[in-house]
Amino acid sequence: MEILDGKKISNQIKDEIAVEVTQLKERGEKVPHLAAVLVGNDGASLTYVGSKVRSCKKIGFESTLIHLPEETTEDELLSQVAALNSNADIDGYIVQLPLPEHIDEQKVLMAVDPDKDVDGFHPTNFGKMALDMKSFIPATPFGIMELLRRYDVDTEGKHTVVIGRSHIVGRPISILMSQKGKAANSTVTLTHSRTKDIKELTLQADIIVSALGVPNFLKADMVKEGVAIIDVGITRVPDETRERGYYITGDVDFEAVSKKASYITPVPGGVGPMTIAMLLKNTLLARERHQSTNN
Ligand code: NAP
Repeated sequence: MEILDGKKISNQIKDEIAVEVTQLKERGEKVPHLAAVLVGNDGASLTYVGSKVRSCKKIGFESTLIHLPEETTEDELLSQVAALNSNADIDGYIVQLPLPEHIDEQKVLMAVDPDKDVDGFHPTNFGKMALDMKSFIPATPFGIMELLRRYDVDTEGKHTVVIGRSHIVGRPISILMSQKGKAANSTVTLTHSRTKDIKELTLQADIIVSALGVPNFLKADMVKEGVAIIDVGITRVPDETRERGYYITGDVDFEAVSKKASYITPVPGGVGPMTIAMLLKNTLLARERHQSTNN
């Protein structure tokens, strides 16, 4: 069994990007600039945004955090989005989800300039991705693909079962893994809460991508020997014995499933760090595309 070490691979990717940033600086060229908009004070969102901004600093990107109060209106947020769209210095930005309930998430995401949409959530980018065209691929599925590629996991002709059909993980990874190319060419089954017998399907799977957010959902008796496991789930489980008051766990019973698996991602340290690395990669790509359009 081999651990798919997302922490290690994400550090490699960040080092590669940092080298490119150093070269840009040496040539006196503009470095990539990522902005993040956070509305409210959700604990997990604050952690995610904080770590994205810190990663930017570490690799030499410019970064801007726009932290708005919980009471921000939809119109105020849309004005902020319009300002970011027209700010030529910003190469890419993200609007951290979830947004407060009084704001229509769809409306806000639709307002983001697709050329700056480094989260890849705009329908223009999602549509291009589905059609094999150049686009921004959502960071989490992009990270999973990169992890599979760098570990040379054989996906060709394999049966991949994806659990979860969200727009940010399950559905895009099911599209990407069924396309032509490296870490793809897979036969994909997409499952969700209405699927009749998930176990019957996971038992046939060569690769399982679990993205539902239910701790210990995938157990050893649901997988066959030699399966490759990608655990996307991140759940904070309350635990008063820990300083933070919680611990993080994935969807997979790691201890038991890892004994049958050929590859498995740990949580934390698997898909999570890859997501941040690929967001940075998308920002670098956004900068390249803007520079080539401007020149
Ligand atoms: P989501 O929008 O809540 O979607 C969950 C999906 O799981 C839905 O499609 C749902 O089915 C399905 N589901 C729920 N319970 C199920 C069950 N018992 N059996 C089968 N399917 C079930 O979640 P998400 O945003 O994709 O996130 C999923 C998990 O990944 C969460 O833990 C999240 O924190 C984590 N995540 C991690 C990263 C990372 O960087 N590692 C990034 C994003 C998300 P229905 O569609 O039928 O409701």
